[in-house]
Amino acid sequence: MDDLNEQQKTRLGEVLLQRELALRADIQREISSQDEYVQLASEVPDPGDLSFANLSVDLGNAAVSRDLHELRAVELARKRMANGVYGECASCGYPIPFERLLAMPSAERCAPCQENFERTHHEGHRGATM
Ligand SMILES: [Zn+2]
Repeated sequence: MDDLNEQQKTRLGEVLLQRELALRADIQREISSQDEYVQLASEVPDPGDLSFANLSVDLGNAAVSRDLHELRAVELARKRMANGVYGECASCGYPIPFERLLAMPSAERCAPCQENFERTHHEGHRGATM
């Protein structure tokens, strides 16, 4: 397996950015009518980041929880990209195939490692599988 080339990285960066924007818009729409929003927003540990992903996901709203989970994953992926380690499997260290990243740009592991991870770290999240 080869490392991602620059073109692939650029493409995935765009995919991640679009995904993040879409998720943020979704989340904002879903919770803007809820009072908790203001309260939760003040709990963001990094004010410069305005990160929804660090908010508690216990909103009692399955759609928001799911979006927050994914947004957190997307943000971590973008951080990895900024650090130049994007596309490396967090478990085995080998490059994650481009096709997998394109389908799931926030993927942290190659498919076999992810399966293994989910088996050993089963947290019983409802609807967390995509
Ligand atoms: Zn792996």
